Formats: sequence, C-alpha cells, structure tokens
Amino acid sequence: MPESVDTRRLKLTNDEGTKGVLLGLRCLECGTVIFGPGTFCQRCTSAKLEPMEFSQTGTLYSYTVVRIPPAGWPGPVPYILAQVELSEGPQVLAELVDCQEDALQIGMPVELTLRLVQGEDPSAAKVVYKWRPAQPGPRMA
Ligand SMILES: [Zn+2]
Repeated sequence: MPESVDTRRLKLTNDEGTKGVLLGLRCLECGTVIFGPGTFCQRCTSAKLEPMEFSQTGTLYSYTVVRIPPAGWPGPVPYILAQVELSEGPQVLAELVDCQEDALQIGMPVELTLRLVQGEDPSAAKVVYKWRPAQPGPRMA
C-alpha cells in the first residue's frame, strides 16, 4: 500500500493513495494556522496547538522554474516549484504540475493533487502532494 511521503503534512484518506488532505496546526491562543508539524505557535509562541486539516484548494502566491533540480529529483526537468497560499492562510511549497510555464498567473486558483513516486524498491512507493491548476466544474472531494 502506498504511504504518505510525510505523515505530518499529508494524510492519505484512501488505500490507493489517490486522495488525501494536508495537515497542520491551529493556535488556540491567537488563531494562527501553521502548515505541517510544530511545537510552538510561530506568532505568539504558545504551545496550545490543535491539529487541523486544510481544504483542497489555494491560490498561486509565487513560483520559480527549476532547471537544475536537487540530487535525486525523480521528476521531469525543468519543473515549476510553486508557493501556494491556502484559503486557511499558510503557504505550501510544492511542484505545480499539468501547467505550462506561460500559463502561470499569480493569484490563479490551484488544487491539491497526489502523485505516486516509485523508488527503486516498488513496495516503497510514496505519495507526494503537488499542485495543479484548479479544474473547472464540480470537484471530486
Ligand atoms: Zn499563537
């Protein structure tokens, strides 16, 4: 069964690894929302954090086109590394797929998409989270 590449940031919600939600924390003192794990609030340093799940969509905040990938990068090159602002506030850095470079627009709606990355060991496949342009019409949750 495929596993999340990072269970503190992505929870899979079906056995096939095709659906999932991004995870984070909300500060009970000041309401700040954090993507991923944390021990203290980034704003008020409170340790009173509760887990939360994010919605599937966000907007493109910034991006860069990566032509020289990090060592071990399994995907095509060049690729688009996108900083996406979730509707809940925090920003999530991940690859933007299914989009040409000249179609990118700051502020465009994007949605979460999951991709299976095969390692050398087929039983060790990992599910990674990426962004793609938001699909028009009814969305499969
Ligand atoms: Zn706080």
